[in-house]
Amino acid sequence: MGNIVAIVGRPNVGKSTLFNRLTKSRRAIVNDEAGTTRDRQYGKCEWEGREFSVIDTGGWVINSSDVFEGEIKRHVVLAIEEADVILFLVDIQNGITDYDLEVAQILRGQTKPVMLVSNKADTFEWQYGVAEFYKLGLGEPHMISAINGLGTGDFLDKLLTYFKPDFSDDLEEELPRFAVVGRPNAGKSSIINAFVGEERTIVTDIAGTTRDSIYTRFNKFGHDFYLVDTAGIRKKAKVNEDLEYYSVVRSIRAIENCDVCILMIDATRGIESQDLNIFSLIQKNRKGFIVCVNKWDLIENKESNDIKKYEATIRERLAPFVDFPIIFTSATTKQRILKVLETAVEVYENKQRKIPTAKLNEYMLPAIENYPPPALKGKFIRIKYVTQLPNTQIPTFLFFANLPQYVKDPYRRFLENKIRAKYDFTGTPIQIFIRQK
Ligand code: GDP
Ligand code: GDP
Repeated sequence: MGNIVAIVGRPNVGKSTLFNRLTKSRRAIVNDEAGTTRDRQYGKCEWEGREFSVIDTGGWVINSSDVFEGEIKRHVVLAIEEADVILFLVDIQNGITDYDLEVAQILRGQTKPVMLVSNKADTFEWQYGVAEFYKLGLGEPHMISAINGLGTGDFLDKLLTYFKPDFSDDLEEELPRFAVVGRPNAGKSSIINAFVGEERTIVTDIAGTTRDSIYTRFNKFGHDFYLVDTAGIRKKAKVNEDLEYYSVVRSIRAIENCDVCILMIDATRGIESQDLNIFSLIQKNRKGFIVCVNKWDLIENKESNDIKKYEATIRERLAPFVDFPIIFTSATTKQRILKVLETAVEVYENKQRKIPTAKLNEYMLPAIENYPPPALKGKFIRIKYVTQLPNTQIPTFLFFANLPQYVKDPYRRFLENKIRAKYDFTGTPIQIFIRQK
């Protein structure tokens, strides 16, 4: 399980600047992010081979003038709950403010590791200003400049020392791990109860990992699987949890640790921005995915084409990723509950699917010949061979070409669509790489 790092601090200390610096490099590697517009708040960073997630708690604050007292403080409290390490940003050019004192007080009263970071130390001269931050009672301040990068290497080295080891739970690897996610009141707890019935159907809580384990194993309807973070879902809303921030931040760990996400949508409300935010998290983590339109029993006058219309709207909102299952359920009447579980298992299998190289070439090479990549700058692009890589998180196809850099996105999409047209990869993202032959 990867670590989660939350950046907290008052407005304008440089949280989003630091967030961008930490997540930028990764963004360049992950290719499939087109279409996910909401990525200001959550991203992935890698340093010295360790991957971790970063949450910018400020990314959610829209109008910082009237949320100061209550809301930002609650953001901080939730960040503390959900994160493994907290970065408390202060502004060395401005010195300590009352707000910094308040946040420091909250942070001193809890047990998660906190790194005090004095930002805007743009030159070495600023080190003389750092002494006053010891007053916050959070140990040594680490000086960085989020804008020009000064000190950030040492800072990241230090950050890694606060991480918990990237342990993997003692799970049976071949069993699928599902997470049910969605905004409050979509019906997550209800559907989980419908899946698993009474508590006694739980096969086992994972032994030996009690402190951090978020997996519960189930054996129902002939399927053996883990549900991720069911406890987190049952933890009921305390304050104002209809805010996007809460449902999104609470979903992070579950999404990161599952194979297939079941995104619950409330049929009476349709897709809203919170759903899109959670969807974006799922995409960034490249997980298998199904949509469950719940409370279908509440939709009146269901004509047969209502389902089609509803489906079309959802696919439109989640474009360009369109190849995923949508199931209309009622957790209350248990309509199509079993279907959800079966489909999640199918998506899991699709995600593992391996196409033999010979078959793949037999199918793809003629298709490429019929519709070759357009010539660029008078040069012809030839794709000679394709193979699916072994041992990848999601199905990954490697094409060999004479001029890989000339193969543009539309053609990659063509290749992906061709693959999807022939083989069942419903619900799973796939990756296309093109390399020099
Ligand atoms: P946030 O509200 O905490 O997310 O702060 P932002 O990242 O939006 O930064 C607020 C302002 O501080 C912007 O004008 C940034 O360009 C500036 N800023 C951020 N980091 C630094 C830094 O390291 N040095 C200097 N001089 N300015 C910075
Ligand atoms: P959660 O916050 O996502 O875990 O949502 P809950 O499972 O607690 O459900 C929220 C409310 O919606 C509860 O009052 C449920 O009884 C109700 N609910 C959940 N699923 C359905 C459904 O399929 N149909 C109807 N009519 N109500 C539902």
